[in-house]
Amino acid sequence: MADLTTDVRYIKGIGEKKALALHKLGVFTLYDLISFFPRKYDDRTQYRPIAQAMDGESVCIRAVVADTPRLAHIRRGMDLVKLRAVDDSGIVDITYFNQSYVKDNLQRGESYVFFGRMEVKGSRRSMVNPVYEQEGKENGVTGRIVPIYRMSAGLNQRAILQAVRQGLDLCGDQLPDVLPERVRSACELVQARYAYENIHFPADFGALELARRRLIFEELFVLACALGRMRGERVREGGIPIAEAALDDFWKTLPFSPTGAQRRAVEQAVNDLKSGAVMNRLVQGDVGSGKTLVAAALIWYVHQSGKMSAFMAPTEILAEQHYHTLSGMLTPLGLRVGKLTGAMSAKEKREVKSALKNGELDLIIGTHALFSQDVEYQNLALVVTDEQHRFGVGQRSALIGKGRKPHVLVMSATPIPRTLALIIYGDLDVSVIDELPPGRQKVDTFAVNESYRQRLNGFVEKLCAEGRQVFVVCPMVEENEELPTPLKSAEEHAKELAAAFPHLRVACVHGKMKPKDKDAVMSAFVAGETDILVSTTVIEVGVDVPNAALMIVENAERFGLSQLHQLRGRVGRGQHKSWCILVSDADTEEVKARLSIMTKTNDGFRISEEDLRLRGPGDFFGARQHGLPAMHVADLGADAQTLQRAQAEATKLLADDPGLNKTENRPLRERVERLFSESADSFN
Ligand code: ADP
Ligand code: MG
Repeated sequence: MADLTTDVRYIKGIGEKKALALHKLGVFTLYDLISFFPRKYDDRTQYRPIAQAMDGESVCIRAVVADTPRLAHIRRGMDLVKLRAVDDSGIVDITYFNQSYVKDNLQRGESYVFFGRMEVKGSRRSMVNPVYEQEGKENGVTGRIVPIYRMSAGLNQRAILQAVRQGLDLCGDQLPDVLPERVRSACELVQARYAYENIHFPADFGALELARRRLIFEELFVLACALGRMRGERVREGGIPIAEAALDDFWKTLPFSPTGAQRRAVEQAVNDLKSGAVMNRLVQGDVGSGKTLVAAALIWYVHQSGKMSAFMAPTEILAEQHYHTLSGMLTPLGLRVGKLTGAMSAKEKREVKSALKNGELDLIIGTHALFSQDVEYQNLALVVTDEQHRFGVGQRSALIGKGRKPHVLVMSATPIPRTLALIIYGDLDVSVIDELPPGRQKVDTFAVNESYRQRLNGFVEKLCAEGRQVFVVCPMVEENEELPTPLKSAEEHAKELAAAFPHLRVACVHGKMKPKDKDAVMSAFVAGETDILVSTTVIEVGVDVPNAALMIVENAERFGLSQLHQLRGRVGRGQHKSWCILVSDADTEEVKARLSIMTKTNDGFRISEEDLRLRGPGDFFGARQHGLPAMHVADLGADAQTLQRAQAEATKLLADDPGLNKTENRPLRERVERLFSESADSFN
């Protein structure tokens, strides 16, 4: 007896070779087979009398083969079968290319259903390579909605379709319903058996929709349960104990009061620290929302318990800036603050390392140098990583591995819609700083095209004469990329600008430069030694240049909204009125709509939601580094509402049965565990 775990080779028609081809598609068992959902569907439900089929229409016709099919070799490697079919209304000439076997399969005088695209030229009607079935013996390729599957060499659609049909017949009834009955009925979803049948062989489009709805929900629900369970398990791990401290003592030292959002984020984190469990918290806040202060408060808090913190920045220059800010804030409060970066001399590094080893520092700020093999910590209780998307997951955990499970605070300036954040940072709790410090000026944003170049140059001239500095960002140009409109590469553009502004100091920084050279150019700009900095998006991270008042983005159409928003956040950080100019010659409606959102709002979360709506989740899920399992039917961007619902239901269920141990949740648990094991190496 076959069951869901049976090898696909059990299926009639699937031999060694086809099985291997199926393996390539990730199909090994019967369960995999029936979970191998179609890529799309062909609507073959429309029947027409031959004479009524219109030119270009894809239709089914019922027709009798009127003559004996003729085989002709036209040239080497090319033959064709020609025949004529008729019904009461008319005649159609049918041609098959390179399918000589058709000659013997189609019998003169027999009645068939043909599905194909009708061509009409004058009074002549013809079809090329239509699929066919003998009338009354249809087995699934005509007269219905036909599934189209992803393919690999050695397979064809008919083989997959027939295999899936057998798979469903053999063990469709054994499918356990992973959705608990309560969830299924609360969300008005169809049963598993119905869904799996109709996702492959929909009775009609209504049934297909019901099946899809259920399976999308199921997929997101399983994912949400998996991540939720992971969070739940983590919480049970004991964290380094941190004693209660009076935060007000810290707030009092500031020249300003923290925003409500900053307070909330700190309180949430403090609750984690006091809970006895390990903190794993993401603080998400728009550029300039004051995340550094949140980190400072927690570093101070941990220090009150006599423990030390490490603060990891993605670049030398950011480490330098954070060192400056944080030591300014914390040294007066008695914390001993050090830094460790690759640029330091060997002697300096040695000294810092020995200080760390001897517990003579309360805070260390640095780049990835912080987790080199030879760095030893004493009492490390808190690890803060800034702009975490810049760090590989491995780097983050390398530092975490240094102490005995220190608390972790991750700060990200990429606003992500909340539902998506829960998924991407599945193992992290999320705090959102959704409020900017008071008195922040808005960066005026304009979208312009090349015809404004002259005026734009005049503006650059004027600002620089006033002593301001200018950022210019060009898109990254992939080599051998063929594009309809020429892109400005950072280097070329810098040359043009240097020629256009002979009296201004123009510098260029791009991704292909050595980190050291990059930092040198950046530092010169920070120090005010250059007027215009042309770059690729390498400056996206939180470098602070309060004197920069203008951000120009070339080929702005090439950037995602969230990215543009990040870039814009590089200006308006000082007391100077600031501008962002998006230059684009692309004039599609889509581009115009996107850029116009930038001119209308400065709210990073609104922008990221629009971005998600317009471009899907790809931008947030860069290069699969999120480590999520691939989705089969769901689309994390497009199905945001379902995702939210699935998450809510998963939370409810896990509150009731955290380990998914109840009998009725067993099928769900199996699926959840399989999801983990399938993607074990890609998970955080
Ligand atoms: P980001 O979230 O982008 O890292 P920062 O932490 O760099 O933001 O803060 C941006 C600026 O806002 C800094 O100059 C900081 O001193 C200032 N700032 C932070 N919090 C407040 C506040 N509550 N009131 C006024 N200014 C603040
Ligand atoms: Mg920052």
